[in-house]
Amino acid sequence: MQTFSLTAVHHEYKKAPIVIKKDVDASNNAKVKGMERSIIWLAIKLRIFFIACITLKKPVLIWRTYKAMLELRRKTWGIAINKIYRVHGRYYFNLYTPGWPSAAYDSLIKNELLRHAKPLSATDKLTFIFLAVTRKCPMRCEHCFEWDNLNKKETFTQHELKEIVDIYQQQGVLQIHFSGGEPLVRVHDLIEVIKHAKNKSECYVVTSGFNLTATNAALLKEAGCKGIIVSIDHYIPELHNGFRNHADIFFKAVEGVQASLKAGMVTALSVCVTKAFINGGHLIPYFEFAKTLGVHFVQLLEPKNVGHYADKDVLLEEEHVQQLETFFKIVNHDATYKDYPTVMYHGYHQRRIGCYSGSRSVYIDSAGDVHACPFCHTASYNIATVLKSAKKEIPVKENLCPRYGNIV
Ligand code: SF4
Repeated sequence: MQTFSLTAVHHEYKKAPIVIKKDVDASNNAKVKGMERSIIWLAIKLRIFFIACITLKKPVLIWRTYKAMLELRRKTWGIAINKIYRVHGRYYFNLYTPGWPSAAYDSLIKNELLRHAKPLSATDKLTFIFLAVTRKCPMRCEHCFEWDNLNKKETFTQHELKEIVDIYQQQGVLQIHFSGGEPLVRVHDLIEVIKHAKNKSECYVVTSGFNLTATNAALLKEAGCKGIIVSIDHYIPELHNGFRNHADIFFKAVEGVQASLKAGMVTALSVCVTKAFINGGHLIPYFEFAKTLGVHFVQLLEPKNVGHYADKDVLLEEEHVQQLETFFKIVNHDATYKDYPTVMYHGYHQRRIGCYSGSRSVYIDSAGDVHACPFCHTASYNIATVLKSAKKEIPVKENLCPRYGNIV
């Protein structure tokens, strides 16, 4: 394996960049810099401290819990979080934290404070869900975690999807990421479900970019969708299309990203970082591409042995993980990369302190099975069975992360 050097790889980037037409209102969609950034961080910290005071009341408990929360954040990100984005009047620094200021952000902080001060019960811990709204998908991706569920009869009607949202919102869910299959195959149902969910939860859509036209992006935004995560697994169109087994999804995905930014939503890329991708020195070129697109976040997903990858030799070696961790810290914290999108890399904190999935979030797959996350198929219960029951109550069952253990 080659020695990893960000600078060397950076200078090796000789690909002709994809031509991106910029057509985005910067006032609605900007990285926060300088004095504004310092003021926003101070305001957020004061807000957390204020919520700690009114929630916990006792000075010693307030101080101990406040410090524990800041420490957890530091361990999650390696160092301090540097980058903040202002999107339609709210500030975002993490793809999995509601924008600030908002009632959802305040509720998340209150939940975390209570969790640190005194562990909550199993069912009222959830603040986040992934909800697969369809089994249909026009892709055949190399790494698909829903592979065994795809293109069968739909499990849920639009009405049932709204019922599922209601059930989890009663548990305090503050953020919902709608996935699939390809969720935009059911764009009209999805819009109605988002309208139904938006008052209590921040809504995101996780898509391949299929059907993410300018019109649909505007409709999603109007319905109350706050963010879009588009899966693009390579900056070279042919390699992305090959990975997705689809002739022209790359340019649809790029257009979808631009449509999402133009509509004024938090916009992220998600990339499956395979061994070949890392060995080929594609990380920095990919981030050049992401920076040119103007996205806020890039999420690095490690290949796991689920779905289509179930029996394949895809797990990263120690050297790959070290490269990703170095990359994660440098791009997020080194001034050279200050204009690059924020890197989200769950593997960093998972290997140190455990996983947030299961204790804070669950994944409801397209057959209704409820797992710790899309990559840990724990299937502790089926939500379709819950919908048919008289009380419609979620069973008190933990979805513990079998790989890394849970962050309590
Ligand atoms: S990974 Fe997503 S886009 Fe790809 S086949 Fe699976 S459900 Fe479809």
